[in-house]
Amino acid sequence: MTTIEKNLQTVQSRLTTACRAAGRQNREVALLAVSKTFDAGAVARAHAAGQMAFGENYIQEAVQKISALRHLDLQWHCIGPIQSNKTRLVAEHFDWVQSVDRLKIAERLSEQRPGHLAPLQVCIQVNADGGATKSGVLPWDALALAQQVAALPNLRLRGIMSIPEPAPDFDAACAVFASIKAVFDGLNAAGLALDTLSMGMSADLEAAIASGSTMVRVGTAIFGGRMKMD
Ligand SMILES: *Cc1c(COP(=O)(O)O)cnc(C)c1O
Repeated sequence: MTTIEKNLQTVQSRLTTACRAAGRQNREVALLAVSKTFDAGAVARAHAAGQMAFGENYIQEAVQKISALRHLDLQWHCIGPIQSNKTRLVAEHFDWVQSVDRLKIAERLSEQRPGHLAPLQVCIQVNADGGATKSGVLPWDALALAQQVAALPNLRLRGIMSIPEPAPDFDAACAVFASIKAVFDGLNAAGLALDTLSMGMSADLEAAIASGSTMVRVGTAIFGGRMKMD
């Protein structure tokens, strides 16, 4: 068994345990394997172990892997910051974009999505803990942006994504995740039919699942430590 296969099993059993503790079904929580900085071979090994969905932060690096692995049935999620001059590459190569945080980027993605591809599945990134320099729309601006994005023809708005600062313990993590869940619930109460609440990473997926996450994004616990910082 490869290390990646073993790690995936460990992560899957953490998901199962967390779902059971929260009184939720396993199928309510999707696992996104975050493969940034790891090569196409690592992605292929994870796929051989049953993993289908992969998250990437760096567009150029991702496009190389996506092209190299074109023969596999994979789903690719862009989860990193997107500059205007990279939107075309994203629109042409990814299935999902979770890091939409301004209208201009969403408009370009919609315009540049090739007609032969399915609509781009999109999440609005929410800056839940308010760091001024962080990516993501502030919680009170999320509804206006979500309504504008939902109206774009070649995008399909699925939900929100957030990357809160690491919390000191489980209860503190749950408090932050609950505030993100409240934004998600608010958008649905306003009439947007959203099904994706993307929150939780290697260190805090249990707290995220306890707080209602429907997608956890896990890198280190599957692929190991990264050399690059980000
Ligand atoms: C790197 C990254 C992750 C994965 O983080 P780990 O702690 O390695 O699990 C998840 N989401 C985003 C947006 C990331 O950039």
